[in-house]
Amino acid sequence: MLTEIVTDEQLIDLYTTPGYLVAVDYPKKEVKLHTVDCMLADPISSVGVKPSKARENKTGEFWFSESRDEANSKAEEIAKKKGYTNTICPICNR
Ligand SMILES: [Zn+2]
Repeated sequence: MLTEIVTDEQLIDLYTTPGYLVAVDYPKKEVKLHTVDCMLADPISSVGVKPSKARENKTGEFWFSESRDEANSKAEEIAKKKGYTNTICPICNR
């Protein structure tokens, strides 16, 4: 099931759940697929995504799914609709 992540806490709670995060960055016009345990998908990390702030500032959106296919479909859908680039994170790609 696809879940929208709107707060940092929601994402932190999912850290130990195997799954995938679709991170949409509006300013960069980029959609990126991560595993949830990626440091770039970790709000606690200084380099990680910050869903609470992104929502507040309307700079991005985030989706979680335990299914890679489902997460990937969502990433493709958003990228196509918005004309963004769709990439797979080079750090956690596996
Ligand atoms: Zn990653």
